Amino acid sequence: MHNKTISELALGLRVGDFTSVELTRSYLDRVSKFNNELNSYITVCEESALQSAEIADRRIRAGEAEPLLGIPIAHKDIFCTEGVKTSCGSKMLDNFIAPYDAHVVSLFNQSGAVMLGKTNMDEFAMGSSNENSYYGPVHNPWKLEAVPGGSSGGSASAVAAGLCVAATGTDTGGSIRQPAAFCGITGLKPTYGRVSRYGMIAFASSLDQGGPMTRTAEDAAAMLQVMAGFDPRDSTSADQPVPDYMAGLGNDLSGLRIGVPKEYLGGGLDADIEASIQLALAEYTRMGAELVEISLPNTQLGVPTYYVVAPAECSSNLSRFDGVRYGYRCSDPKDLEDLYKRSRGEGFGPEVKRRIMIGTYALSAGYYDAYYLKAQKIRHLISDDFREAFKKVDVIMGPTAPSTAFGIGEKSDDPVTMYLSDIYTIAVNLAGLPGMSIPVKPVGGMPVGLQLIGNYFEEAKLLNVAHRLQQETDWHSATPAGFE
Ligand code: GLN
Repeated sequence: MHNKTISELALGLRVGDFTSVELTRSYLDRVSKFNNELNSYITVCEESALQSAEIADRRIRAGEAEPLLGIPIAHKDIFCTEGVKTSCGSKMLDNFIAPYDAHVVSLFNQSGAVMLGKTNMDEFAMGSSNENSYYGPVHNPWKLEAVPGGSSGGSASAVAAGLCVAATGTDTGGSIRQPAAFCGITGLKPTYGRVSRYGMIAFASSLDQGGPMTRTAEDAAAMLQVMAGFDPRDSTSADQPVPDYMAGLGNDLSGLRIGVPKEYLGGGLDADIEASIQLALAEYTRMGAELVEISLPNTQLGVPTYYVVAPAECSSNLSRFDGVRYGYRCSDPKDLEDLYKRSRGEGFGPEVKRRIMIGTYALSAGYYDAYYLKAQKIRHLISDDFREAFKKVDVIMGPTAPSTAFGIGEKSDDPVTMYLSDIYTIAVNLAGLPGMSIPVKPVGGMPVGLQLIGNYFEEAKLLNVAHRLQQETDWHSATPAGFE
């Protein structure tokens, strides 16, 4: 059952091949069998999952047929879940039981999806390898000594290993797409504002966006259908109608203009990965699409710009964790200052502290103009590059990441090398565009992701383009050995 997609499982539930309780139990069994080696989940909600499954079974028997009714999914531990520990991968929130549901979580609950648990992640979503979690590194099911990517590595490894059928993730600079690429699954970062950030613990508010991580584009469409939409509780939520994402799947691609940025191929890109990307592009031309060489001239400025903007915003967002209202508090503080210093000093890990320090520096009087303001200006130039490109093409394609999954420990001592793993994904967040990663031909037995970038609110188009490739090829249906 665990190799099936959402739509296959939904059909099985409807025709009575199995119940949601049976399905949920089979996933919970896999979680207890494999979570020790993968470390994908921080919290498993066995009892409440089985209760929701029972309710779902009753609704199914009564003839209800919502696409996610009775389907077992997992949420990244950055989404607040009422009554359930919400740690954000940090010691700071190790004792935090959220008093309310994130908007996304309540939408999934209403849809009848069953929450199996909360997935592991880099602390406060800062990282590209899931090695920054307070709960220890997550392992890649394709090779246990390799990282699953980050920061949504728990969700990616859980979906790839069949420890849930689909999961939520969040993407500030690549955290849905890069782990999707490393684990051989489909990941979609929607347009900024498409999915509510209410109750999603903030890292860098102008970049953060939640989205689905699934086995297929069709499943991503089903998940996004539930997640997307206006939420008055998030002031940056887009008040735009949500299209029927399923309805657009399967549309013909003839005449589709695919922009291939010259800055994304060659350069630092592994030659085998480039060959894999070219193979997928050739498949698209076979389906009637046309390749157009484009240029995104400010590509090289994405990473440095992001590493001013994101830390600046995180230094402000994370100031709320002061040991007073919630979260970790040091023992026996001498006075208020000692309470702040030691609670934050002991509660945050090294990468989070590094970002808070960089951000505080970039925002301080005298440096604000030199760093933060400059970064905001470059952010505009990066958005303009995409605006120009979308005058000529319908969708942009390139690699998701410059390499396949690297080894655990291989880059953890060198933050700058680590930051470069997001070289192809970060600009999409700076511009607020939707982006996707889908599996293409593996290299050395490890998954490779093709990145698809769309114009604002064109998720339906991206999903169709991804789905068409998955109808013609079977790269997305490979499963890691040992987890079949
Ligand atoms: N890897 C990037 C970072 O460390 C992006 C993380 C993310 O998208 N949440 O900030």
